[in-house]
Amino acid sequence: MENSIPPALLQLLKKHRYHLVGKHSAVKRCKWLYEALIHDRSCYKQKFYGIKSHQCIQMTPSLFYCTQQCLFCWRAQSGDLQAKWNEMELPNWDDAEEIARESLKAQAKILTGYNGHPKTSWKKFTEALKPKHVAISLAGEPTLYAHLRELIHTFHHKGFTTFLVSNGTMPSKLAELNEEPTQLYISVCAPNENVFKHVCRPQVPNAWAKLNETLDLLPSFGCPTVTRMTLVKGHNMEFADGYAELVGKAEPTYIEAKAYMHVGFSGLRLDYSNMPSHEEVYDFARCLAERTGYYVIDEAPESRVVLLSKRRKPTSFETH
Ligand code: SF4
Ligand code: SF4
Repeated sequence: MENSIPPALLQLLKKHRYHLVGKHSAVKRCKWLYEALIHDRSCYKQKFYGIKSHQCIQMTPSLFYCTQQCLFCWRAQSGDLQAKWNEMELPNWDDAEEIARESLKAQAKILTGYNGHPKTSWKKFTEALKPKHVAISLAGEPTLYAHLRELIHTFHHKGFTTFLVSNGTMPSKLAELNEEPTQLYISVCAPNENVFKHVCRPQVPNAWAKLNETLDLLPSFGCPTVTRMTLVKGHNMEFADGYAELVGKAEPTYIEAKAYMHVGFSGLRLDYSNMPSHEEVYDFARCLAERTGYYVIDEAPESRVVLLSKRRKPTSFETH
């Protein structure tokens, strides 16, 4: 790992079961991998889009680096727990092929923990050994990684589908993705610049303008696009008109309205009471539907998420 990353942070991340990959990437077991293998449950993305939770790798190529310090973020940010580093002092980037290869190895290592577990579904475990999807989303801003298009290409070449989650502050990097992810997420967690500054705490100049530039760019993508709103009670659930205006620019295929979850390092910045209930998320989604003409087409109360779409039915990426 890079010298500028405090060793105490690396220890902490290992304790939190991040599998560090190369200098700046990581794979982490999603709780839904566990739920799928042990309790036969699945995440809302399986329900909405057919992405099988037990065949999904949750990873990031940019673990320590981000253009924002969102209040609701579950990652460890510089300043949390006295560990400090410059989140915009970018490293010498690892090769995309190497990151993909090592991420697959990390996932295989994670899976060994389920081999022999008395409650593991053997059928699902066997399928999990052949993952099919990569969520490039775990933590950090992936568009900071210089070889992102090669990484997406490498995963696709190996037969994976990819969901890419970006905060939208690097429109030029998204514009140059000549290989699009299978589905592109842009986080839209504020209805206006004031709330944006308070909730997303940008670390780069003109971040709000950059996000808006990304939203303007979104209709040019061929893949399904999503604007994801992480809703934090008491912070960013007002001004539905502002959100509707942003949706109007981006014309996303889907909108995911999702409750902030009081997990990971976000507990250092927010309180349990900042998690809206599913009903509150649903009310927000209904308000947005009225203002945008989108339909509320699905929901997953256990994850407090509501799906809106221009289409009546989402595209399924289910593979066999
Ligand atoms: S799609 Fe997301 S929530 Fe679902 S299993 Fe993959 S990482 Fe977890
Ligand atoms: S943009 Fe994403 S990774 Fe960066 S601070 Fe916000 S939630 Fe965390």
